[in-house]
Amino acid sequence: MVPGARLVILGKQGAGKGTQCVRLSRHYIVPHISTGDIFRAAVKAGTEFGEKAREYMDDGDLIPDEVVIGVVTERLDRDDTKNRGFILDGFPRTVVQADALDEMLKPRAIDVAVNVEVPTEVVLSRLAGRRVCEDCGANYSVERPPKENWTCDVCGGEVVQREDDIEAAIERRLKHYEEQTEPLLVWFEKREKLLPVSGVGHPDEVTARLIRAIDVYREQRV
Ligand code: AMP
Repeated sequence: MVPGARLVILGKQGAGKGTQCVRLSRHYIVPHISTGDIFRAAVKAGTEFGEKAREYMDDGDLIPDEVVIGVVTERLDRDDTKNRGFILDGFPRTVVQADALDEMLKPRAIDVAVNVEVPTEVVLSRLAGRRVCEDCGANYSVERPPKENWTCDVCGGEVVQREDDIEAAIERRLKHYEEQTEPLLVWFEKREKLLPVSGVGHPDEVTARLIRAIDVYREQRV
């Protein structure tokens, strides 16, 4: 039986985090917790909370720390994360969120924060071509579309371009990433929890590389 995992996955938008997190969550048999997916679901459900989240998301801005921390605290409190662990995708995004995560998880920290590294030029072209299922969030691209007419292979939902994948919002999101998320790399590095892994190549190759790197890292620290 594969052991569980307590992972944070970092990387620029378009680094392939979403796709890789789904695969890692199947491999380690732990829930994939994506704050972006949680907020998109709230927007879709049309709740008051969702309406507020939408204003930030459509502009490519970050949702305030206290809101995001509240959502993640509630999610990590459920039993499914307690036994085998979790894969956090899109959280933490700021140093304040990283400090809060540390507190939430005490006394047991994460295993490691994996930084999926992809050059900005590659990320820009991937984001422009990215398409997602409106219903289940499955990822596709212009090069790898669903089998039938932009209908999701997994759930039959409509496959569309995300509203925040338009050029102006992409630029803002990458800028936020540099300003707010890159200090996180330093934060994890200081705690000897940062594992950089290249995200360039075919998705299958990247998955194998990630699993190998995570397993080796964990073996060395047992
Ligand atoms: P993502 O799918 O991770 O790119 O997230 C989409 C959008 O959701 C972001 O551009 C933010 O507006 C919001 N969001 C997701 N996670 C966070 C977070 N940890 N902190 C602040 N905002 C977030």
